[in-house]
Amino acid sequence: MKEKSTIRKEIRFSGVGVHSGKKVDLLLRPSSLGEIIFRRTDLDNLELALDPNKIETKSSTYLVSEECKIQTLEHLLAVLYMLGIDSLIIEINGDEIPIMDGSASPFVLEILSAGIMSLPERKKSIKIIKPSSLEEKDAAFSFSPDSGFKITYSIEYDHPAIQRQELSLSLNLENFIKEVAPARTFGFLKDVPALRAQGLAAGGSLENAVVLDEKSVISGPLRYPDEFVRHKILDLIGDLSLMGFPLTGHFKAHKAGHSLHLKAIHFLLDNPEFWTYI
Ligand SMILES: [Zn+2]
Repeated sequence: MKEKSTIRKEIRFSGVGVHSGKKVDLLLRPSSLGEIIFRRTDLDNLELALDPNKIETKSSTYLVSEECKIQTLEHLLAVLYMLGIDSLIIEINGDEIPIMDGSASPFVLEILSAGIMSLPERKKSIKIIKPSSLEEKDAAFSFSPDSGFKITYSIEYDHPAIQRQELSLSLNLENFIKEVAPARTFGFLKDVPALRAQGLAAGGSLENAVVLDEKSVISGPLRYPDEFVRHKILDLIGDLSLMGFPLTGHFKAHKAGHSLHLKAIHFLLDNPEFWTYI
């Protein structure tokens, strides 16, 4: 069993929300409380604890309460999960975590340079002991026992720059930093009017997303030929972190997204016979 961890000193980020389009400042503060707490500094320091029952999804994963919401949590949450940080205060003066360059690398670099500190409190982890699967339209999700934390993701897009991509990784901090964290979010130019009509993607740009027109990528070179599926793995790590504990198991997703990821989390939380604490 490992210890809970926090950061050694405060870290500031500022940037734009990819959906809101608004500039936001984010301050990560060390905490010994043993949980991740969001604090809206623009709303009298209103606090929201990370809770899978208060999560909704629509193009991103967000935390909601009666008073407010905080959108696009998934990239920051993936980094906190992989770095083992589970005790933190996240102050934000708006309703969306900044998108930075569309990837998780800016969060990784700053947190590693600030340093990570263990706390006296021990933490449990969750081990999958029985396999199961879920489906949603043509998307599928399954989990099974494994000796590590493994993700296999596959996507299929009828687009020449993507087509079918599949990647399987037994994740550790080293391959997360090299193979997953730099992968940027992506979007299709043709979807922009519909997204904007729903109040989404207002802050999306060629600088913070891989953007595709009908035939090709128009936002410059890809970081990996299969950057798309790598980003899906990043999103899934962020969503799985909502389980609240480090995970041991193999999680497989095909053509999935935040909505099916979240369904899988609720299935696991509602059916504890598929896992055990270790
Ligand atoms: Zn993402």
